[in-house]
Amino acid sequence: MRIDLHTHSSASDGTDSPADLVREAKAAGLDVVALTDHDATSGWAEAEQAADEVGITLVPGLEISTKFRHRGVHLLAYLPDPTHPSLVTMLDRILAGRTERTPAIVSALQEHGIEITEDDVRREAGGSVAAGRPHVADALVRLGVVRDRTHAFDELLNPGRPGYRNRYAAELEDMIPLVSEAGGVAVIAHPWGRHGGTVLDEEAFAMLKEIGLAGIEVDHQDHSAELRVRLRGIAAELDLVVTGSSDHHGLGKVDHDLGVNTTDPEQYERLVSLAAPRP
Ligand code: AMP
Ligand code: ZN
Ligand code: FE
Ligand code: FE
Repeated sequence: MRIDLHTHSSASDGTDSPADLVREAKAAGLDVVALTDHDATSGWAEAEQAADEVGITLVPGLEISTKFRHRGVHLLAYLPDPTHPSLVTMLDRILAGRTERTPAIVSALQEHGIEITEDDVRREAGGSVAAGRPHVADALVRLGVVRDRTHAFDELLNPGRPGYRNRYAAELEDMIPLVSEAGGVAVIAHPWGRHGGTVLDEEAFAMLKEIGLAGIEVDHQDHSAELRVRLRGIAAELDLVVTGSSDHHGLGKVDHDLGVNTTDPEQYERLVSLAAPRP
């Protein structure tokens, strides 16, 4: 059983449509794939249909933009009810923050002397409801300003660079209970990844478990072998589920091929058993 629990489609900032992503997951030899677009469940229906067609198990999920002690933390939510009113309200607010940020980034880049328009970004975002910096990056690539997404982030879009602008994120301590209330299972994505820093230590994980955290994404490309050993230790200590995933973005992120990290079947079974039965 090969299980990959974190991928993105063009419903957020991946480059494959939800159906293509599912077909590629099948072709990559996966038995289970989770679709976890940023702040959006809009890709689920298409992905579920494709999964039925090709014969692969699809776990509907999302990766929610939250903050903890003023630092950005990504929260994976698996199998929540996508119509749960409070969850929908919260996600709408996050998506509005994304939509409002794009013009601010475009203005900042224009002030920096780059001829880019909101339309350029909108074109790249296509059918995505979760407009983001990756779409700005794609516009910059198409305009010939930078070579690829990585250069766009490094030179213009990361914190401290001229095109960086903050956006709204939910409080992690509000979002974890809300995911549970919506029948879903909450797992911290890449807790010690590139942008996470060390804000999530063992004490923080223990507190988050008290309010409903179910697991930690340990095997992720942002984590070195040493970090994985330490995170696995914390998960064992606190009896949290351990997951491993690719965080695949299609062509949008190098070195994140489908199945590059996988989740142990026993851990997966435990995760699914924590979700409310779906209608
Ligand atoms: P946003 O959600 O709009 O703030 O953009 C952040 C997203 O951009 C992250 O979730 C990553 O998926 C993606 N990202 C961050 N850094 C890079 C990079 N260097 N290259 C490609 N994608 C990146
Ligand atoms: Zn992304
Ligand atoms: Fe993430
Ligand atoms: Fe992700």
